[in-house]
Amino acid sequence: MTATTSTENRRVATGAMHLGNYHGALKNWLTMQHEYECFFFVADWHALTTGYENTKDIENNTWGLVIDWLAAGLNPKLCNIFIQSAVPEHAELHLLLSMITPLSWLERVPTYKDQQEKLKEKDLSTYGFLGYPTLQAADVLIYKAGFVPVGEDQVAHIELAREIARRFNHLYGKEVDFVERAELVIKRMSKKDAKLLRQLMKQYQEQGDLESLKQGHALLNTQVNLSMGERERLYGFLEGSGKIILPEPEPMLTKTTKFPGLDGRKMSKSYHNTIALTEDAHSVETKIKTMPTDPARVRRTDPGEPFKCPVWHLHEIYSTDEVKEWVLQGCRSAGIGCLDCKGQLLEAMYKEQQPIRERAIEYKKNLSAVHNIVQEGIENARDVAKTTLQEVRTAMGISYR
Ligand code: SF4
Repeated sequence: MTATTSTENRRVATGAMHLGNYHGALKNWLTMQHEYECFFFVADWHALTTGYENTKDIENNTWGLVIDWLAAGLNPKLCNIFIQSAVPEHAELHLLLSMITPLSWLERVPTYKDQQEKLKEKDLSTYGFLGYPTLQAADVLIYKAGFVPVGEDQVAHIELAREIARRFNHLYGKEVDFVERAELVIKRMSKKDAKLLRQLMKQYQEQGDLESLKQGHALLNTQVNLSMGERERLYGFLEGSGKIILPEPEPMLTKTTKFPGLDGRKMSKSYHNTIALTEDAHSVETKIKTMPTDPARVRRTDPGEPFKCPVWHLHEIYSTDEVKEWVLQGCRSAGIGCLDCKGQLLEAMYKEQQPIRERAIEYKKNLSAVHNIVQEGIENARDVAKTTLQEVRTAMGISYR
């Protein structure tokens, strides 16, 4: 199963990852790289959709992001790390998909209006900005991704990618000899599995039984002697449609609690309340020491309420149960001071960040190694992307072979 992800577009334009990005997305990727074939790429074209007038930082930011990912633990031996614009097949698929994507689908994407409202200072009435969810669909569909790790706000984009894939398969998935070719593949399955597949197909197509469809997919996934193309043909056969050229991806919702920023609101560049993932220890210390606390604790002897304090929300993420209990009791009884409390937090944050900082310094000293990692990722990604694009061109009748 394949998973794909890109960075959220503004992250490229505005630079380094912060701790909210690390806890909200990157930590999840570290686990995923062991479980799926993953494609992680810096979406530099997406940065242009909201920041086309100022491109001078994109290149530095792109390398900075790759270094952050590597320093945090993405392992190029386990996953593919690359840059979107170095795989031009994304752009060609975007162009082809844009031919079949109704304008109304793009206009109703919630972030379209929402971003225009939020980023009033920018000119977002461009063709590129309206079409960027189609580019995002191409980014995912080109790797035939099974899953895309996203936050809630991106689910609508994955739903759009699913609709575009469905429309594409409906328009171009019909082969003249589709049924005959599917039957030939079924003949290679064991008699028992072939019989079960036909039963499940009947139950799904006659009664709309979704459980049968699910079981049918699971059955096909266990067939080791089928190529990817044959399996996709049988998915289509099972569903009563044509060949599935672009499988529909599923959103994989990232389990995140809101990561608190220095002011207690969600950590976000736009609130200027962030700590960068590889920020130096002295700067982190200054930021934590000057964080606001429960306003009721004017003097050291005033008792406080941790639930009203932004520092406590960081303890919830970083501290052990024992330390949390110490904060709850000590704060409410004025047994501890805010500086003691912040000191414990800083210790835990240092433990997490220091190894990442050290690895980032090493990568910065050895940029050619970083470039080689990305080059290898680009080559792997292009191999897969070219194969998909060839299938797409053939299905659309523009392969010229
Ligand atoms: Fe906040 Fe800790 Fe001070 Fe209580 S002791 S107000 S939790 S910083």
